[in-house]
Amino acid sequence: FRRPSEHTPGHKIHEVENTCLFCRILGGEIPATVVHRTETTLAFRDIDPKAPSHVLVIPVAHHANVIELAADPAAAADVLATAAKVAELEGLTDGFRVIFNTGEHGGQDVFHVHAHVVGGAPLGPMLA
Ligand code: AMP
Repeated sequence: FRRPSEHTPGHKIHEVENTCLFCRILGGEIPATVVHRTETTLAFRDIDPKAPSHVLVIPVAHHANVIELAADPAAAADVLATAAKVAELEGLTDGFRVIFNTGEHGGQDVFHVHAHVVGGAPLGPMLA
């Protein structure tokens, strides 16, 4: 681990790999129940599911939130394609929801962008 003061811009990735929860899951340092994996994305089960099927889809590249993800169109497209694949694998043929909680008002707790793919039952007008 390199202290932030030792970082040159090129070492930013190493810093987040050591500190970000979802980068640590990507690195295999913290276990997760993987649903699907591509070269650029990982889909794994939420540890505290809010619906019968609740999967998180993350890009391998560290982006803090959906605004940063939108600035990386290839990664954004890959995350959406993996979300669609998860819905297929999970058998969510009656519908599902894809949610990016963003910032304080959005209730974002983990600052490595993740799409919640939720379904498996009627979800009501909003997901609490
Ligand atoms: P958000 O509030 O949108 O940032 O969502 C973070 C999500 O990550 C929550 O739904 C948590 O239950 C989930 N979560 C936190 N830690 C883990 C973990 N180690 N493995 C899987 N899901 C996690």
